Amino acid sequence: MNTPAPESVFIKPLEPGLYIVATPIGNLGDITMRGVDVLRRAQIIACEDTRVTGKLLKAIGAETRMQRYDDHATVETRQWLIEQSRQAPVALVSDAGTPLISDPGYRLVRAAREAGVNVAVVPGACAAIAGLTLSGLPNDRFLFAGFLPVKDKARADMLGSLDGVDATLIFYETGPRLVRSLSVMADIWPKREIAVARELTKLHEECRSGLAAELAEYYTAHPPKGEIVLLVGPPAEQVTAHDSDALLREALEEMSASKAAGTVARLTGMDRQTLYARAVELKSQ
Ligand code: SAM
Repeated sequence: MNTPAPESVFIKPLEPGLYIVATPIGNLGDITMRGVDVLRRAQIIACEDTRVTGKLLKAIGAETRMQRYDDHATVETRQWLIEQSRQAPVALVSDAGTPLISDPGYRLVRAAREAGVNVAVVPGACAAIAGLTLSGLPNDRFLFAGFLPVKDKARADMLGSLDGVDATLIFYETGPRLVRSLSVMADIWPKREIAVARELTKLHEECRSGLAAELAEYYTAHPPKGEIVLLVGPPAEQVTAHDSDALLREALEEMSASKAAGTVARLTGMDRQTLYARAVELKSQ
């Protein structure tokens, strides 16, 4: 196979334009080779916090000029960056991860595209995707919903609005609010599998799965520190009466009606009493 040498994947020379560059979410080693190249060769780096980005630049040996930019920046700053990116490469980074994903940059990218500026992406780390892949939850369909609202009612309303969504849900969360969010989830989705992915790519990385009530209890006893991605598995598939009969018949071959009802209730989330009555019926047939 003809594998290109790493240098040849870089654009030479770096064309003028706006480069959206992902940076690490914890482990510095996660900056991409192309990310390093673009940050070193850009004329200007638009960043949320010059101190945070300054540390990254120092680590990769870049001395590029920084310009503070966030979504509260003035229209003039945005226009200036767009004009600069017509003439030279301008990089956009956030404090960590992929810019625009619960981070500044949306207005700048939109305005740059509307202005006909060359916009390119240099992808890399993103906590939502890192958490999803680590969680072991179904990932064929997922919905990223950003940060949950702080106020109880707004949070419950948002979760309620996602109730029927047949996908894994991904939220960004903070340590002090995690238990409250899990408690609300325990009311709305008592049977859905939840994962708490914490401190991804850092020394104390952990991913803990369980039901919302179990996790709320655990994190009440062990208050979580650091950054968190909270994931909710999709709703269990609707089990038809036909399916539950098949499961009961299979279970009855090996256990009593009472145990079979308990097993199928756990698997399907169906009512145990109803299943027990049906198991007795099936046994007598
Ligand atoms: N743009 C970033 C990205 O691509 O992931 C997200 C920025 S958002 C302001 C910060 C939130 O992302 C944190 O509050 C946390 O929910 C999540 N996050 C960032 N880094 C993380 C990490 N290392 N482990 C777990 N969650 C993280």
